[in-house]
Amino acid sequence: MSSIKKDLILFNELVEALLNEEEKNPVAERIEANELYNSIDLSLNQSPMIDDAFKTLLEEVLVSTPKTATKLFFNQLFGGRQSKAVLGDLLAVLLNNSMYTYKVAGPQVGIEQEIIRQSCNLVGYGSNSNGTFPTGGSMSNYMALIMGRDAKDPECRANGMSKPLIVYTSKESHYSNAKNATFAGIGKNNIRYISADAKGRMIAEDLEAQIKVDIQNGGIPTYVNATAGTTVLGAFDPIDKIADISEKYNMWLHVDGAYCGSVIFSEKYKHLIKGVERSNSFSYNAHKMLGTPLTCSIILVNDKKHLYDSFSNDADYLYQTDGDDFNLGKTSFQCGRRNDALKFWTLWKSIGTKGLEKIVDQQFDLATIALDYIRNNSDYKLYSFDDSISICFNYKNIDPTALCTALYEEQITVVGFGSFDNETFIRLVTINANNKKVDILNFFKVLEAFVEKTPNLTKVAEMSV
Ligand SMILES: *Cc1c(COP(=O)(O)O)cnc(C)c1O
Repeated sequence: MSSIKKDLILFNELVEALLNEEEKNPVAERIEANELYNSIDLSLNQSPMIDDAFKTLLEEVLVSTPKTATKLFFNQLFGGRQSKAVLGDLLAVLLNNSMYTYKVAGPQVGIEQEIIRQSCNLVGYGSNSNGTFPTGGSMSNYMALIMGRDAKDPECRANGMSKPLIVYTSKESHYSNAKNATFAGIGKNNIRYISADAKGRMIAEDLEAQIKVDIQNGGIPTYVNATAGTTVLGAFDPIDKIADISEKYNMWLHVDGAYCGSVIFSEKYKHLIKGVERSNSFSYNAHKMLGTPLTCSIILVNDKKHLYDSFSNDADYLYQTDGDDFNLGKTSFQCGRRNDALKFWTLWKSIGTKGLEKIVDQQFDLATIALDYIRNNSDYKLYSFDDSISICFNYKNIDPTALCTALYEEQITVVGFGSFDNETFIRLVTINANNKKVDILNFFKVLEAFVEKTPNLTKVAEMSV
């Protein structure tokens, strides 16, 4: 038997063990970080490992790796497992194409382009639109910023930065905006953080006021980032109002939908990004709301000219056949590029656009269940708002950082905390669409039972209820 066939048999055995383990212990056996190298043999050695020991070691690694697909994982802006997407990703690994040329990727090029075409339609972009699959949401934001920079100052591609370009984003936006401004040569000090209202949404009036100040000081307003689903509260910036301003001052408008941009699939929730078709670029992570394996991030541009202007370079050793429309390397940041499209395509193809809509709506349904539970129970205080799948709360005045850490260390459930307006709280993310009502209620039951039997949890000073 060929070695790949033998290893796939081993793979199936390991998968079986992992799935059983997930059923039995939804939270992984935790290894203290400073015990890691003593408790599990991660060393690489001169001599090979014999097959049986190799298998046993792999099982050990699987058991102690944090489990992100189970019903007690609420820590991140991803979770759960869409099996048809897993299937697609496994096939992508076996095929091992690189997405830069038609010669090497063949029909995979069409698979990627079809996802981009359909996504552009859902956003409402016109016939000149296109896009690509960057390595993640941070990279999507980076590519958007580069296109915005080059659109304002085309010279800078050849000569470097010479103008005082200014970029805008809300103080609640993702931290990649700050990093990207440094990478792009714009500089961190040339980002303006616009304040958010009480529900975490950018205040458009403050954006315009800030732009006027910058113009007066000789700055050149260049780019504005609006967020569809902020990282902590899951808030949606008012795109229409921001688009009015970006059009007036001739700035690039990017909508960062890494977290919740997948509402484009939902009749019920797409109103949250009303006006998105007026943006210059839009990105979303299918590995967040749509549940594909990491990473699967898509950036779309209303006018593909900007993608080519900023990212294409001639390379005779690479582009030897077929046209630009089939050689996707001409519009990407990378050279060799993983096939992130196939897993999304197998999911989409197998459940249809209607199925993706159900995945999105389910998360909001689960959020409503959590909100109702919190609102009907006076031991809880709520910090988040309707139309968000980030449920932010505190329980019985307990310090949320201490509680989250204890829940993790005792392997009870995995959930994180966040802050807004000087308040810190637990953030329950209802992004795993495989969960049901009973799983959300079970989370609260598990949390309450843990607090009951753990008397020494610190309380925060005086919380006004
Ligand atoms: C997750 C997230 C990002 C970053 O995406 P990565 O794929 O993790 O790089 C950017 N913006 C927002 C709003 C996010 O939630």
